[in-house]
Amino acid sequence: MAKLHFVKKAAKDNAVVKKGESYFWWQGYRSPKRYSATRPKPSQLCNNKWATVLAAEEDFQDAVAAATDFAGLREAVDLVTSELTDFASECEEAADAVEENFPGSEQAERIRERSSNIEEFTGELEGIELEDERINCPECDGEKTCPDCEGSKKDGDEDCPECDGSGKCQTCDGTGEDEDALEAAKEELREVCFPDDPF
Ligand SMILES: [Zn+2]
Ligand SMILES: [Zn+2]
Repeated sequence: MAKLHFVKKAAKDNAVVKKGESYFWWQGYRSPKRYSATRPKPSQLCNNKWATVLAAEEDFQDAVAAATDFAGLREAVDLVTSELTDFASECEEAADAVEENFPGSEQAERIRERSSNIEEFTGELEGIELEDERINCPECDGEKTCPDCEGSKKDGDEDCPECDGSGKCQTCDGTGEDEDALEAAKEELREVCFPDDPF
């Protein structure tokens, strides 16, 4: 929520008043400056920023879908956690601004509710133990290397026929992870419920 400014006498004509008249102005984050001749309502100062959360959810689902290993899933979790932590602190600042301009306003309380919902959610998300659930590739037992040539890529003078000379475990394609475990973790993350706007 933007900080509200009051100007007792306009230095020059503006969009809402003539020179010498009083007006209010405010400017939301990444928004143009706005003017009003009368005191604006809290909702006017507060554009609906829940879009931030919806966008974070989309980014998260895309990143989860695109992840090819557990590090990718961890990145997806870290990304959405940091986006939402920023959003929660913006909400806190907004609530402070509402309280400053409209003492005793119910709106401030509701914005704080937003913030605490988000914090609770990111706490849950961070609590998902991705790495601990990792199951090593049954073929190479997490070694990532071809068990036949033990990563040397060679079978005598020839390329190792098992891994085609790549030295990588073919079952897990060198990730050392059980693909099914990754899929199961993805499924769990896909089902994570993002909080709803309490407004
Ligand atoms: Zn393997
Ligand atoms: Zn091999």
